[in-house]
Amino acid sequence: MPPTSPPQPQGGPAHADIAIIGAGAAGLFAAIFAARHAPPGTRVVALDGAKKLGAKILIAGGGRCNVTHDVIHPEDYATSGSRNAIKKVLKSFSVAHTIDFFAQQGVELKVEDTGKLFPTTDRARTVLNALLTAAYDAGAQLLTDHRVLDIQSADAESHPESESPARTPRFNIQTSQGPITADHVVLSTGGLALPTTGSDGFGYQLARALGHSVTDTRPALVPLLLPANHWLTALKGIAVDTVLTLAGPTGKILHRQPGATLFTHFGISGPGPMDISRHLFADAPAPGNSAPGNRLTANLIPTHTTEQIDAALIEQATTQPHTTVLQVARRTLPERFAAALIDHEVHTEPDRPLAHLPKDIRRRLVTALTALPLPITTDRGYAHAEVTAGGVPLAQTQLSTMASRVCPGLHLAGEILDVDGRIGGYNFQWAWCTGRLAGLGAAAHLSSTPPSSP
Ligand SMILES: Cc1cc2nc3c(=O)[nH]c(=O)nc-3n(C[C@H](O)[C@H](O)[C@H](O)COP(=O)(O)OP(=O)(O)OC[C@H]3O[C@@H](n4cnc5c(N)ncnc54)[C@H](O)[C@@H]3O)c2cc1C
Repeated sequence: MPPTSPPQPQGGPAHADIAIIGAGAAGLFAAIFAARHAPPGTRVVALDGAKKLGAKILIAGGGRCNVTHDVIHPEDYATSGSRNAIKKVLKSFSVAHTIDFFAQQGVELKVEDTGKLFPTTDRARTVLNALLTAAYDAGAQLLTDHRVLDIQSADAESHPESESPARTPRFNIQTSQGPITADHVVLSTGGLALPTTGSDGFGYQLARALGHSVTDTRPALVPLLLPANHWLTALKGIAVDTVLTLAGPTGKILHRQPGATLFTHFGISGPGPMDISRHLFADAPAPGNSAPGNRLTANLIPTHTTEQIDAALIEQATTQPHTTVLQVARRTLPERFAAALIDHEVHTEPDRPLAHLPKDIRRRLVTALTALPLPITTDRGYAHAEVTAGGVPLAQTQLSTMASRVCPGLHLAGEILDVDGRIGGYNFQWAWCTGRLAGLGAAAHLSSTPPSSP
């Protein structure tokens, strides 16, 4: 399935009725639904700067591609805009629709215990091939190595909807392979996460050039750094079930996040830290700096509160007086972790029995086990982030079509928007929903029939 050349109308530059800029998850869905639902003969062209499509899909979910999640709520997403807007978009294409879509493309999805859905092949390639085949079958042209360098929209006043769009293209697009004109554009260039895949944030400039604003962006779903030589960095490779708590300067709980924490040579990673990362820096004065006074702690016994563990130790000092501090920590932690925790946080001998534990040491033990301080210095940056927080505000789009409210003929889809999801398939579901709406929305302008249901 080699990419084809752009259509060349006689005597003019290449032209597309619908040009999709960025053929990642959202752009491919936009291309598929635009090409399927537009009138026959419509030229749907997806332009992507990458030499090979789908880099992010192929590495997603550890190479298995976590396509979606079995249950999805608007609360699984963050935005500086309205949750209701997210709800409306999510309702347009449910998890069941995603499963059906892939089934129709011959890809069966399975739900794992975590609620994540993967292809039964456990290969992301299956997902990418299905999307590429669906796009080609629908008649969309996918042009690799076509980086968009600039885009200009003609004055909206001179291009009312009733005018023949083919004669008066609204958009002049400069690509690395030459100019292309288009009547409708879907901007789906992703965010800044993992820029080596081609999503390097240039799409925000394109959005701004077309009149949009972009809220502050920062890495999300990103590992977090501890100070160099912090004792936890020596425990690399150990994963512990945790509840992470982010508290503000007054002690007010800002966010609680259950999930495993993986201790690494640089700090912490894994589902818990990745999910809480976007909240850690939400109020930061500058990207990558922790908001002043915010504190991150880990409960290493997530089934119990600080008070419960304290009460249990007081009781055990009588009922199990010979139990040592190390044995207490070993109940939930690997030996190496437990020993280091006692050394660095409890400051006592590991074989000290509970019967002879002064109150201050018991308190330190309880704090170490249930509210271990994690003095995060910064995050690992976009190069290690799975997604971008911030982007084009949803309020600048019409949610039923993802059409721009500021630039006629433009639609936006995917991660470029100011919405980011938790780890677990939520971000792809957002890409499927918005890509489909944008594709259908663009097609509906060319067709007399409104978008149909999935
Ligand atoms: C390591 C990793 C693992 C992940 N795993 C999962 C997972 O398992 N499940 C999940 O739900 N989410 C996962 N995500 C997040 C998910 O991949 C993204 O949210 C999703 O891909 C966003 O889709 P998109 O189409 O909006 O953007 P992208 O997938 O980033 O696609 C944007 C496309 O636009 C192209 N482009 C950018 N600028 C230009 C330009 N100027 N001209 C032309 N083309 C351009 C890029 O080359 C790219 O192909 C993961 C992300 C990473 C980094």
